[in-house]
Amino acid sequence: MEDVKIGSEDEIIVVARPVWRERDRCGVCRRRCPGFDLGEGRRRWRALDLGTTLAFVEADAPRVRCRRHGVVVCAVPWARHRSRFTRAFEDQAAWLAVNTSKSAVAELMRIAWRTVGGICERVADEAQQEADLLDGLRRIGIDEISHRKGQRYLTVVVDHDTGRLVWVAAGRDRKTVEAFFDALGQTRCKQIELVSCDMAGWIAAPIADRVPDAVRCVDPFHVIQLATDALDEVRREVWNDARRAGAPAAAKDLKGARFALWKNPENLTDRQAAKLSSIQKTNARLYRAYLLKEQLRQIYRLPADAAVKLLDEWIAWARRCRLPSFVKLARTITKQRAGIVAAIEHGLSNARVEAINTQIRMITRRAYGFHSAGALIALAMLSLAGLCPPLPQ
Ligand SMILES: [Zn+2]
Repeated sequence: MEDVKIGSEDEIIVVARPVWRERDRCGVCRRRCPGFDLGEGRRRWRALDLGTTLAFVEADAPRVRCRRHGVVVCAVPWARHRSRFTRAFEDQAAWLAVNTSKSAVAELMRIAWRTVGGICERVADEAQQEADLLDGLRRIGIDEISHRKGQRYLTVVVDHDTGRLVWVAAGRDRKTVEAFFDALGQTRCKQIELVSCDMAGWIAAPIADRVPDAVRCVDPFHVIQLATDALDEVRREVWNDARRAGAPAAAKDLKGARFALWKNPENLTDRQAAKLSSIQKTNARLYRAYLLKEQLRQIYRLPADAAVKLLDEWIAWARRCRLPSFVKLARTITKQRAGIVAAIEHGLSNARVEAINTQIRMITRRAYGFHSAGALIALAMLSLAGLCPPLPQ
């Protein structure tokens, strides 16, 4: 530190000069390099406030010529490369992004939410270089998550044993899944024992190709999701029928029944339970659809033997239930039976798979307003991969 001064807007400026051995290092790789020029002269980095006063570090920002990275601004010990903020400022902003609301970070740090996205990217990049998240993986789940209101997709990989997110990339296609196996490398691919996923071919094909010895399981979450969709289709049919038949009261009643039908029976409020019992009395088709969904969910709560037996009974029942959406689902489940049974036999916990899925979805909603998928991915990795830095001090 050379000097402390007060700026034109009453901000505090700490004028700094890196000690000799920290000087002339490449901003990217921190290797020592020959100097190139003075760059754009003096620069400022926003630091953590002093009380309520804005604070900055000011220093020269000369450029060096790195053998690998060309002419770059040299590294400074107090900030990450290409950042306008100090390391402590960024660590605190990233910690707040993970642990508080969007508006709290932006207001407290006095920066825009978009800027928080860029900070998350730099912090997560650095943390990922230091920790190898792909080491020791045995049981993983591969899934897709939509963001930007379903316009774009991410492929995510979770570790079933730790419940952590370990890899995320933009896109949902075979190439993206292959990129994950490339990052894992051949040796570690051989250690993978189990991969869970939905029923899509773009995930199943590269699994068969790259980790042929791993057991492929169908995520319970996706099976139940399909049953919920089938139930919703029946509800809509029944509702349309009631409307067309000129029974507006019945139609309105059905519209309000959505949550009662969706929720797990043990979580129903008294009112929802009453609604369900009125459906039982007045609407046999819809109630049958509800029971089909519930029985399929029940499969994942039984011991393996009983579960497989119930699964086969369910398929037989659904096939002849005369509800087109469930007849179709019975066909899908018959086709995917091996993967569904594997999930049951390997005790893949649906609670955990669903919990991480829900958390990622929440983060994609929070990341709305970030400038890139990279910033969303960074926030997800900081939050769910255990990469969040501690608060400075
Ligand atoms: Zn370099």
